[in-house]
Amino acid sequence: MKRFLIVLLCLFFFCFKVDAQQDEIVALCSQINADSLRANVEALEGFGSRYAFNENRKDIAEYLKSRLESYGFNVVLDSFYLEMEYPYSSGIMNSGWQYNVVGKKEGMWTEDTTIHLSAHYDAVSFKEGFENYFFVAPGADDNASGVAAVLEIARIFSDNAVSPIKTLVVDFFAAEEQGLKGSNDRITKTANPQWKEFIGGIINLDMVGYNTELNPQARKVNIIKYDGSEELTQMAVDYCGLYTSLLPMETYENNNASDSYIFNCYSVRAVFLSEHEFTPHYHTERDIVETLDFDYMKEITKLALALVYETAVNNNYVEVSLNETASSSAKDSFEAYPNPVSGTLHCRLPYFEDGCTLSLYSAEGKMILYSANKKGQTKMEIDLNGVENGIYFLRLESNSQAITKKIIVHH
Ligand SMILES: [Zn+2]
Repeated sequence: MKRFLIVLLCLFFFCFKVDAQQDEIVALCSQINADSLRANVEALEGFGSRYAFNENRKDIAEYLKSRLESYGFNVVLDSFYLEMEYPYSSGIMNSGWQYNVVGKKEGMWTEDTTIHLSAHYDAVSFKEGFENYFFVAPGADDNASGVAAVLEIARIFSDNAVSPIKTLVVDFFAAEEQGLKGSNDRITKTANPQWKEFIGGIINLDMVGYNTELNPQARKVNIIKYDGSEELTQMAVDYCGLYTSLLPMETYENNNASDSYIFNCYSVRAVFLSEHEFTPHYHTERDIVETLDFDYMKEITKLALALVYETAVNNNYVEVSLNETASSSAKDSFEAYPNPVSGTLHCRLPYFEDGCTLSLYSAEGKMILYSANKKGQTKMEIDLNGVENGIYFLRLESNSQAITKKIIVHH
């Protein structure tokens, strides 16, 4: 009987906790504002054209950077050089620096595990004929809508002082229309094979504003899915019913048509949210704010907010942090000092029967140093005299676990 009571009590508290989390999400979702979404789309459309090779591309990136900064994100413009023939087979060569906008809200517990929320900000427009194209590219639906939804979520998190447990990364990708170039650059910097496990998942929004269905109960959203991302897909499907009035339409169709595809190619779990009716104004100068349905967009924004909240703010999503896979005793006995370090880094290692390896990675995920440790050795010294100033990650790996520490090199 006593045991029964305890079980009952646990069940009660568990339900209570889950309910409280749901209430919190419902409260945040209720703050999503159609006028705010519209203002975001109008601001982006106001740039005239967001074609990737236009002169104004850095201005747009700077604008998005300042918006995210106003919501408490640490933001960098991450540049990459792009040179290519575009339109394809046109004989026209384009080149120039591109700017991914990367905003981070550091996680409270697991700084090294990230959840990405993304939308590309560039646009294209194919006018009639072959001359004037690209000078007018309003891209209201494709993809000012996705960016607008992400900015709205950032605003609400900021207004409510939401602190994520996992690090929340907002990616506004450049040059998506030229073949997912921004996300490709991003993932090769942050998720090379040694690093992919740091990314818990990506929630990508592309074209989320077009709808002509008048009955709110009959509106649909595409939950575009990827292999290996079943948990995330199921969450998106479930949250449609919990937090929105939308009907979820699971599909693999077009899953290679936006940036989440590139992340998934690197084994990152991904989900891609998109309108169910494809806009007839796609890639034309008629893709303007007046064609969007902001009440519909509000519902997709709710879905994205709920997904971000559950994956990054709550801990209800699969753990991928390397730190968390280590037992606490091993974590405690792994030390590296001094930190910041200017010359020799002294490491105290946990005892591993089969030894372990230590490797040092740059912030971009490039391996700088590697050394194997002999059986049972518990001390090691690493000479960092030749290593440039910056932030690095020291990774210890044994047969059973991996532990990562952030190291600052400063000479
Ligand atoms: Zn797009």
